[in-house]
Amino acid sequence: MIGIINGEVYDPQNGINGEVRDIWIEDGKIVSGENVDRAGAEVIDAAGLVVMPGGVDIHSHIVGAKVNAGRKFRPEDHRDHVRSRTALPSPLEGGLRGVTRSGSGYTVPSTFLTGYGYAEMGYTTVMEAATAPLVARHTHEELEDTPMVDKGAFITMGNNHFIMKCIRDGQREKARDYVAWLLGATKGYAIKIVNPGGVENWKWGRNVGELEDEVIGFGVTPRQIVTTLAWINDELGLPHLPHIHGINLGQPGNARTTVETIEALDGRRAHFCHLQFLSYGGEPGKGIRSGAAELARAVNEHPNVTVDVGQVIFGEATTMTSDGPLQYRLHKLSGNKWINDDVEGETGGGVVPMQYKRNNPVNAIQWLIGLELFLLIDDPWRVFLTTDHPNAGPFFCYPQVIKLLMDRNYRAEMLEGIHRRAQKGSLLPDLDREYSLYEIAIISRAGTARALGLQNKGHLGVGADADVTIYRKLDDKEAMFAKPYLVLKDGQVVVRDGQIVREHQGRTFYVAPPYDPGIEGDLRAHFEECYTISFDNYPVAPEYLTRSEVIPCA
Ligand SMILES: [Zn+2]
Repeated sequence: MIGIINGEVYDPQNGINGEVRDIWIEDGKIVSGENVDRAGAEVIDAAGLVVMPGGVDIHSHIVGAKVNAGRKFRPEDHRDHVRSRTALPSPLEGGLRGVTRSGSGYTVPSTFLTGYGYAEMGYTTVMEAATAPLVARHTHEELEDTPMVDKGAFITMGNNHFIMKCIRDGQREKARDYVAWLLGATKGYAIKIVNPGGVENWKWGRNVGELEDEVIGFGVTPRQIVTTLAWINDELGLPHLPHIHGINLGQPGNARTTVETIEALDGRRAHFCHLQFLSYGGEPGKGIRSGAAELARAVNEHPNVTVDVGQVIFGEATTMTSDGPLQYRLHKLSGNKWINDDVEGETGGGVVPMQYKRNNPVNAIQWLIGLELFLLIDDPWRVFLTTDHPNAGPFFCYPQVIKLLMDRNYRAEMLEGIHRRAQKGSLLPDLDREYSLYEIAIISRAGTARALGLQNKGHLGVGADADVTIYRKLDDKEAMFAKPYLVLKDGQVVVRDGQIVREHQGRTFYVAPPYDPGIEGDLRAHFEECYTISFDNYPVAPEYLTRSEVIPCA
């Protein structure tokens, strides 16, 4: 039994806003304070400290084939960013190491460093935002090697041949059964859609630009792909929403098609990721303007939609996405090296290093758009903190974003330092809003856990997983959130003063919705005809996941 007593608790899921409360923990879970044996408990005095649930990241690229491609392809990201192994005070037990592992990498850290980095920032759950089904096994191997956090992976389906054939043939129930099978087979957590139809068209050197454009060889449209997958998501009762990276990402004028995509859902629930990259005004082929006001209005008017921001951080980044045509454009624009990849019959992908500069007008406008979205979207339960790690910046810069949201003087100071042309016409000087600690707890844990459908995460009520972060209360919010006083994972102290003190192996969450087994005959034939690997060799065996939890569907 552990008690965290006298802390200033921020637990928005349970409506607790900075009140002094005691939190009791037993067997890795939060338990009721009634009838606890206080005499026998280990007590952590949190007087004067801020207590929140552990952070929950809804969208980050941390593992798998494309992340690893980014690591291999950027030695310059690793050479000067090395972390040595350290001895841990806790003894070796149950297969856990008595040392932390060494590693390297800044924007694309190795698996161990990723887990440590999140935990040292007070985050205890992280979702890998995009995995091609065919390479899901690689994703799970790396998730196994990402310590400290609970995790899961979203499965890319927006350019999947089998799904597009079903849509073409008017067989959406068959597509539904396939999606259910695919999630179980890949041990995936959610449906991910990336540039629907555009990644397939890129295989022919083309893209899509409108929701009505045709996918070459299938005769279906981005609109049909998005609406069908949103319908399937509801039919299967998946815990999360369809997770959408829309068409025209990064293109001037994409605010219009992003709003059209929100409207195309016709009230069905969905999550739009890294909205900053999809909120550009202006016209195609010309310079970008902020479309944040337009997008914030659309989000405010559509309660069925949640978003994460993908806030740009000035400095080094590595862009990595299934959106092949986008990566080609970035490579051409930046002159930076690039990799492009095809994942047979399923998706594609690319990696391009990126540097976001204050004195670059485009980068400065991207930075502004992210902050404008945070400040113009009214409901913190529907806008979440991300940097689309490592696309818009590394995850360990979240504390800097928190400071920007909580401290308008810091924002004004930063605004002074960016390119003059970006400053002109910016909405930022008029946005006085400052996020409270309660709202920060929503956008970084309570809201994300709710959108993910993780009922035991993001709160400190009875029955929740005992993932707790305790911060010192500092005026400098970046310093406060960068280095928690204590982090508990499943009821054990794993970080003290921002340093790992205990290694912990988290669980992998996945879903396994039921489906009509009759579909397996069709699938076997599809694999025989189209895939380079056999149907029986495709699913990720349960033995791949040493600690896992199946999250139930509704
Ligand atoms: Zn992403």
